[in-house]
Amino acid sequence: MKKENQAQIGTKAVWAGEKDYLVHGATQVPVIPSVAFGYDDMDEWYDVAIGKKKGHIYGRNTNPTVQAFEDKVKALEGAEAGTSFSTGMAAISNTLYTFLFPGDKVVTIKDTYGGTNKLFTEFLPKLQIEVVFCETGNHQQIEEELQKGCNMLYLETPTNPTVKITDIKRSAEAAKAVGALVVVDNTFATPINQTPLELGADLVIHSATKFLGGHADALGGVVVGNDSSLVESIYHYREINGATMDPWAAYLLLRGMKTLDLRVKRQAENAGRLAEFLETSDLVESVYYPGLPTHPNHEIACEQMRGFGGMLSFAVKGGVETVRELLPKLEYANRAANLGAVETTVGPARTTSHVECTPEERAAMGIPEGLIRVSCGIEDGEDIVADFKQAIEAVSLLLKIEG
Ligand SMILES: *Cc1c(COP(=O)(O)O)cnc(C)c1O
Repeated sequence: MKKENQAQIGTKAVWAGEKDYLVHGATQVPVIPSVAFGYDDMDEWYDVAIGKKKGHIYGRNTNPTVQAFEDKVKALEGAEAGTSFSTGMAAISNTLYTFLFPGDKVVTIKDTYGGTNKLFTEFLPKLQIEVVFCETGNHQQIEEELQKGCNMLYLETPTNPTVKITDIKRSAEAAKAVGALVVVDNTFATPINQTPLELGADLVIHSATKFLGGHADALGGVVVGNDSSLVESIYHYREINGATMDPWAAYLLLRGMKTLDLRVKRQAENAGRLAEFLETSDLVESVYYPGLPTHPNHEIACEQMRGFGGMLSFAVKGGVETVRELLPKLEYANRAANLGAVETTVGPARTTSHVECTPEERAAMGIPEGLIRVSCGIEDGEDIVADFKQAIEAVSLLLKIEG
């Protein structure tokens, strides 16, 4: 038997979670699209139905392909338990709705993902759940708010799109002191760069749609944790609520995850190179990348992350007008509302992560209208830098002529 638990994370990405699901000597986990699972033995059926015996009953609850996906994520995050969802937003909303009740309070940061921010500003208040937004990176404010009493600390680090960093360990300690549940969205970092459970988080969430899958061809979400009763509660909410991952998506995500370590390392390398180049450009006002020594939370990033990830953003002079000219000139980039794919993907924050917000709301979050989010792909770094260089040069020339 292979000792997967002791293996390095790149090895786990390839091997973990699969062997229980292989059949007929196949070396790959099969897609099992069956909606229901049949039993000739009524007693066995009953035992599986009440959870006394391992097995599957109905696809909304569990499915073998989907479970293999969950098992691989568990191995990568070093978690005891996990459950999956149709999308990342389903993972987030199901987790919030499982644990929060009228009168409860959540402490979070201003820079969460746009959809998450909508849950906090629009949906939770309808249930009389209070959400307190702290300045991202202001640990003192987070601690002060937690000390007033709180049910859940919800973090995302690095954030979307300005890649701000929050100290997970420090914040989790303050949350634990008041008995608050600590939830971390680890989508941007990936388990290759950061494992929040080791830093004190109770639950770790991913939009598997992004880096875990990595090929922009399947939607999915997942929650993992070490306290299986917490995960069990979320699973119970989801099996009834019905935001179940599709087995075909699970297969694609599972296959994508095999190369997670390779991809994420290459993406981080490319992001570092591109960030350094952008810092030297006259058209660029500011560059946001946790790997840059100029990043305000660079030290915390060095402490809690093993790599700085493939995400960066930069603000261009001339705002939206410059963005409009610049992005179409990139040859090797998809202009799309996605991230974490093997192809470099770009988009303005106002059209992608924070399209749900008004310009005023974006300004309040420190998101300039001329902000471009870049998710670096696995192309050759030289080509990516050269591509941005030619696009910036062409736009600089154009703006100079017009000006
Ligand atoms: C995309 C994303 C989500 C939402 O995931 P979906 O799969 O699109 O529902 C949540 N958090 C972060 C950080 C994301 O980037």
